[in-house]
Amino acid sequence: MPLIEAHELYRFYHNGDDETAALRGVSLQVGHGEIVAVTGPSGSGKSTLLSCLTGLEEPDGGYVIIAGERITRRSEAFRASIRATRLGILQQVPNLLAHLTVTENIELQMHLAGMANMNGIEMLLSTVDLRHRAYGYPNELSGGEAARAGLAVALAADPVLLVADEPTAEVDRKTESHLIEHFKKRRQAGKSTLVATHSDAMSGIADRVLRLRDGKVVHD
Ligand code: ADP
Ligand code: MG
Repeated sequence: MPLIEAHELYRFYHNGDDETAALRGVSLQVGHGEIVAVTGPSGSGKSTLLSCLTGLEEPDGGYVIIAGERITRRSEAFRASIRATRLGILQQVPNLLAHLTVTENIELQMHLAGMANMNGIEMLLSTVDLRHRAYGYPNELSGGEAARAGLAVALAADPVLLVADEPTAEVDRKTESHLIEHFKKRRQAGKSTLVATHSDAMSGIADRVLRLRDGKVVHD
């Protein structure tokens, strides 16, 4: 059984009389221990796809199953519990809570996932090269640091599936190679990673690359 499967996802946005077909029948599967990269030009639907897969947005057509449970058209509470216990999510705009330090943001995510043992935060911060900002608040971080802190939060509960939207867009080569090593370690441990990316190094380690254009898969 795949960890996540999407069937024929459609998503339309409306602005007055204008309609944008952001997703036009996209299907995909990610198995246990797989790294799948989603590539494609800006505006091709990558972020919309990831939002629909994680239940942050409802598709207008099609459905998503995570670990055997359909999350599409279920209650927000149900989707939130699947997200907290199964998924790590990094959105393009990192969702850090402003009144919590980086470490507290990570601890909160661990708490939401029901983790009793909150060790490993230092290791996590090393992975994203952010140990020096452990007690910083989000508004004290640079764009790149905020992106890395968001990634540390997404990885906090060691999720079975990490869904990350352009995680290396604002990081340097060194951090990118640390992340790539981390994603490979996750794969060895049987954990799955779905990543939207423009980085050739990142798609280079993927088991499969799904290329989007105008809301459709052009190459899998
Ligand atoms: P990508 O992540 O590949 O750059 P997106 O999924 O962000 O692409 O966007 C796909 C298309 O949907 C684009 O044409 C974008 O302008 C449009 N779009 C995305 N989000 C919205 C929104 N909230 N409202 C209106 N249009 C949107
Ligand atoms: Mg995007």
